[in-house]
Amino acid sequence: MAALDWPEIDTVLLDMDGTLLDLHYDNHFWLEHLPQRYAQLRGVSVEQALGAMAALFDEHAGTLNWYCLDFWTTTLGVPVLELKRETAERIRLRPGALEFLHALKAAGKQVVMITNAHPDTLALKLERIALAPWFDRLISSHQYGFPKEHPGFWQALAADVAFTPARSLFIDDTLPILRSARTFGIGHLLAVRSPDSAKPDKQTEEFEAVIDYAALHPRL
Ligand SMILES: [Mg+2]
Repeated sequence: MAALDWPEIDTVLLDMDGTLLDLHYDNHFWLEHLPQRYAQLRGVSVEQALGAMAALFDEHAGTLNWYCLDFWTTTLGVPVLELKRETAERIRLRPGALEFLHALKAAGKQVVMITNAHPDTLALKLERIALAPWFDRLISSHQYGFPKEHPGFWQALAADVAFTPARSLFIDDTLPILRSARTFGIGHLLAVRSPDSAKPDKQTEEFEAVIDYAALHPRL
């Protein structure tokens, strides 16, 4: 991984799930826990639950609905936030993420979380992991009405936060989101090699990826 040119970077934009937090919690919840609990609560088989959800997942991937707890609670007819709390002990930091945030703060960078997580999911995660003190702003894309995949998100961000896109670093584990940020003009982009600790490494195509946060720390 090439070293970052820290003097050229004023603002660091960070995704949450799969970037700072282990994506294992989310993958386990959506692909295992929710189908099982849905099957129990709705009196159907797990296979039927998985089938119904797979069709909905395909239809809404990459949209704000995909990330919206209210949408899933209404569409599935089960209390998704309550069910999320049942596995909250799986919410974990990725290795080195906290030390990286500490180093960014010490180096005086503006640090902004930009997440597609619903505000209630964000709140649940912040209850478990004390991330908030390390950020100048915590932004859920639901506040803007567009997911990060959409150009409207970046326009809303630019209107809300003072930052220079060309002098900003953005780290996110979702490649279509990195492409959206690149189109907007974010100058420094990194993917994540291992967003889910329970899965093999991810191919990050045209993007360089964070392998170890310790190798990224800004020099003071
Ligand atoms: Mg992510």
